[in-house]
Amino acid sequence: MSFFNLVDFDDHEQVVYCSDKKTGLKAIIAVHSTALGPAAGGCRFWDYANDESALTDVLRLSRGMTYKNAMAGLKLGGGKAVIIGDPKSLKSPELFKAFGKAVNNLAGRYYTAEDVNINTDDMGIVNQITDYVAGLDGKSGNPAPFTALGTFLGLKAAVKFKLGTDDLTGIKVAVQGLGSVGYSLCQRLHAAGAKLIVTDINPVALEKAATEFNAEVVGLDDIYDQDVDVYSPCALGASINDGTISRLKASIIAGCANNQLAEPKHDQLLKDKSILYVPDYVINAGGIINVSLEIQAETYCADKATKMVERIYDTLMNVFETAKQQDKPTGIVADEMARAIIAKGNK
Ligand code: NAD
Repeated sequence: MSFFNLVDFDDHEQVVYCSDKKTGLKAIIAVHSTALGPAAGGCRFWDYANDESALTDVLRLSRGMTYKNAMAGLKLGGGKAVIIGDPKSLKSPELFKAFGKAVNNLAGRYYTAEDVNINTDDMGIVNQITDYVAGLDGKSGNPAPFTALGTFLGLKAAVKFKLGTDDLTGIKVAVQGLGSVGYSLCQRLHAAGAKLIVTDINPVALEKAATEFNAEVVGLDDIYDQDVDVYSPCALGASINDGTISRLKASIIAGCANNQLAEPKHDQLLKDKSILYVPDYVINAGGIINVSLEIQAETYCADKATKMVERIYDTLMNVFETAKQQDKPTGIVADEMARAIIAKGNK
C-alpha cells in the first residue's frame, strides 16, 4: 500500500500510529492541518473491519475538522483520532492512559475530545496523562446542546433563504434521529411552532417526542417520503444517496449528522432538484465552537460560546447567497470558502 497515494490522503501534516501491547491499544491520530492553530477533533472508538478502514476514516474525519473549524471562524486546525477495536471488551482506564500518552507526545499539535463510543469519563482518564483534552465535565461539558442550537439557527437561515420567512410556525420538519442533538433540536423546533415528523430506532425517544412535541412517528425508512418542508438528518452519515434523493419532497436539508452526502456528486444532484442543502460541517459546528473556548479561552464561558454559535446563521446565509450568485452547489461553495480561510492561515 502506498500511503501517500491513498485517495483520502490530503497532504495531512502528520499521521501517527499508536500501539500499546499491554492494554491492547491500537490507535491512529491524524493531524490534517495546523494552519489556523492546533488541530482539534474528537476520538472515535470503533470496531473497524480492518486497519485500512480505520485509516480511511481518520483521514477523512481529520480533513473534515479542518474545514469545520475554519468555517466556524476558530483559530484551530483539524485533527481526529480513532481507537481500533470493540469498545465493550477493550475499554479500560489503562488503555485510555496509553492513548493519553500518545496524545501528549504530540505536544499540543492535537487536542482530543469525545466522539462515538467515548464519554466524558473516558476523557477524564486521558486527562490524567495529558492536558491536550477538551469537552471535560466541569468545563465545556456536553457539546450536544450547542450543536442543537447551531443546527436550529442554520435551519432557520435555510427557511428564510428558501421560503422567505423568519417564522417557523407550521413549517413541517422530518427529523431522523432523536439522540442528544436531535431531541434538543426538536425541543427548539416545537417551541418555535414547527410541526414534527420523527423516526428513531429507540422507541422510548419516539414515545417521548410524541407526548412532549405532539410529533408524528413514522417508520425508519418512511422518513424520506414525508411531505415536509425540511428533512433533518440527525442520526447517520450518507442518508442522502442515490436511493433517497429521488424520494425527498423537502425543499431544504438541514440536520446535524456528519457526512450526510453519500458521494460528492449528490451536492450537484440536490441543486439540480432545487433542494437547498445546508452543508453539514457548517451547520453542526456548535459543539466544536463550545469546545474551542475550553482549549483557547482563559476561562470557559457558556454565554460567549452561545454568541459564537449564533454566527452560524450569518455564515450560512453567506454560503447560500454565494452559491446562488455563482450558480454552484452549496457544499462546493462551503469547501471553497473554507479553503480560502485555510490558505490565509498558511501564509
Ligand atoms: P446520538 O448517538 O446521541 O443520537 C443518534 C440517534 O440516532 C440515536 O437516538 C439513535 O437511536 C438514532 N439512530 C440510529 N440509527 C438510526 C436509524 N437508522 N434511523 C433513525 N435513527 C437512528 O448522537 P448525537 O450526538 O445526537 O449525534 C447525531 C449526529 O450528529 C451524528 O451523526 C454525529 O456525528 C453528529 N454530530 C454530533 C455532534 C454533537 O455535539 N453530539 C456534533 C457534530 C455532529
